[in-house]
Amino acid sequence: MSNRREFLKIGGLGAGSVILSASVSGANMNPISKRKSGKPATIKLRFKPYDLQLKHVFTIANNSRTTTPVMLTEIEYDGLIGYGEASMPPYLGESQKTATEFLTKVDLSQFSDPFLLEDIIAYIDSLAIGNYAAKAAVDIALHDLVGKMIKQPWHKIWGLNTEKTPNTSFTIGIDTPEVVKEKVKEADIYKILKVKLGRDNDKEMIKTIRSVTNKPICVDVNQGWTDKKMALDMIHWLATQGVVFVEQPMSKLAVDDIAWLTQNSPLPIIADEAVQTVHDVLSTNKVYSGINIKLMKCGGMRNAFKMANMAKMMGMKVMIGCMTETSCAISAAAQLSPLADWADLDGNLLISNDLYDGVKVVDGKVTLSDLPGIGVRLK
Ligand code: MG
Repeated sequence: MSNRREFLKIGGLGAGSVILSASVSGANMNPISKRKSGKPATIKLRFKPYDLQLKHVFTIANNSRTTTPVMLTEIEYDGLIGYGEASMPPYLGESQKTATEFLTKVDLSQFSDPFLLEDIIAYIDSLAIGNYAAKAAVDIALHDLVGKMIKQPWHKIWGLNTEKTPNTSFTIGIDTPEVVKEKVKEADIYKILKVKLGRDNDKEMIKTIRSVTNKPICVDVNQGWTDKKMALDMIHWLATQGVVFVEQPMSKLAVDDIAWLTQNSPLPIIADEAVQTVHDVLSTNKVYSGINIKLMKCGGMRNAFKMANMAKMMGMKVMIGCMTETSCAISAAAQLSPLADWADLDGNLLISNDLYDGVKVVDGKVTLSDLPGIGVRLK
């Protein structure tokens, strides 16, 4: 507990890790020799709130904001540190306060071995309902730690082909035509654009983008359309405008309407708000064409990997998305990206105060490195 208080007081994570090594006796002994000596290393969690500054005011169908609250985590074991993050855009209901309450309950000292991922994550999940971002912050740090212990990145541990990473889209928020044109120019290296629709100027947004580029566009309606026939008409029009898929066109509760849309739509219909975690995947089958998996929705990398595999087994498309996040959570999600048909991993590119160096977008494509764990370093 005292370590945790010290971590919260420290301004930066780098400084925090200095405290750590001082607080762990025998940190340079290996775990096996510790077990032999009867003094096993313990697993320790620390966390710290941080506010992400957005480069642009970000507007979706029902809100606008300039900052996103996150919680940064570290899990330390035997001198190694894994990094994690919870991103908590206000409309999802979690906050730095709820994450602090949740993470304060977590006691990893009861586990002797970080490789017990299934047990540890089941324990984390059992502590409270919901709190998926806070749970992801533990899950990501744990995966980072375990990858560092065996000196391998997760894409390799999972046996995924780094050549199969998709292009990532870059999100253009709802704005005036002038700002939209400026944002499209900023997104020059990206091969796919993502546009938030669901207001009364949907066609105008698409036409504005089409006035400056011919790149494929992914559309996210964030449940903004209310009439299925109007939605289908719009989707038919979007199909003539080089749109690739439509995400969450109507309320997640309008299951029958969405199933009808999917059946009749010329474009794939992707579930986002309608799919939270592993338990929701089955119910999206035959209603949507695919699912958008986000670590902050599902509780982390372990659940995300399960979801991607479930969706693929059912013949559904897989999209890997994100919130506004640092390169920490983005790099964790990117480890899964070879499983995805589409990636929307631009959350770190929309902020001006990223603390981590991680996955890179090269020529529009998610590009994974051989750095162990989730593949990040502190800047
Ligand atoms: Mg979405």
